[in-house]
Amino acid sequence: MLARWGGRLASALWPGNCLACGADGEQGRDLCPLCEVAIPWHPRACLRCALPLAGEKANTTNPHHTGSATCASCLAEPPPLVEVRAACTYGVPLDRLAPRFKFHGDLAAGRVLSALMVQAFAALPRPDAIVPVPLHRSRLRQRGYDQALELARPLASALGVPLLDGALLRAVATTPQSRLDAADRRYNVEDAFEVPPRVDLPAHVVLVDDVMTTGATLHSAAQCLYRAGAVRVDAWVAARVP
Ligand SMILES: [Zn+2]
Ligand SMILES: [Zn+2]
Repeated sequence: MLARWGGRLASALWPGNCLACGADGEQGRDLCPLCEVAIPWHPRACLRCALPLAGEKANTTNPHHTGSATCASCLAEPPPLVEVRAACTYGVPLDRLAPRFKFHGDLAAGRVLSALMVQAFAALPRPDAIVPVPLHRSRLRQRGYDQALELARPLASALGVPLLDGALLRAVATTPQSRLDAADRRYNVEDAFEVPPRVDLPAHVVLVDDVMTTGATLHSAAQCLYRAGAVRVDAWVAARVP
């Protein structure tokens, strides 16, 4: 009985549970071995929008993606982002980690997402600065943290890239994109961002966000950065919804 009580005390003090599936994990690891080997690294994808190229599926062995192809839709209508890189494809276990991080205050889940980004992007050429896609201050007050900033801070420090926090602001408190369809998403975030006049943007900036769905938010943020003087804007996200 004493041993059982001791075990319960230990698991209360050191939960050791997998952040994705809740299974017993190993001390000091955020994911259980099963979830760790199931991470769906994003496959070879269009350089401009990160949608997987025909026939490409998420793989669980290799976080590298060196694709340089452009899909037909981006060739026909080039998006404002020069490159979009996704660490993972949105699916199990990202579909648990990302919402828990974004909507349920689970900062440990965010730590996992950021570590996946570091692993996936370590070999990419470094931009001049990383800019997190900001929340409006009213939503920041509600949530207590800015999820893109929480991802961007450890990523910037691991890759040795300056982090420009506050270089991009959300000027309008928009309806959450998750409640809208694709057409409304674009309209919803049009002119939602601003760069304060005191900010001196470097030439090559990478936007960081958690999940890319239609890209409407990232495109609107990129256009704002170009208007403020950026020469090239890319985006790095933890997960891409295919
Ligand atoms: Zn697990
Ligand atoms: Zn594309």
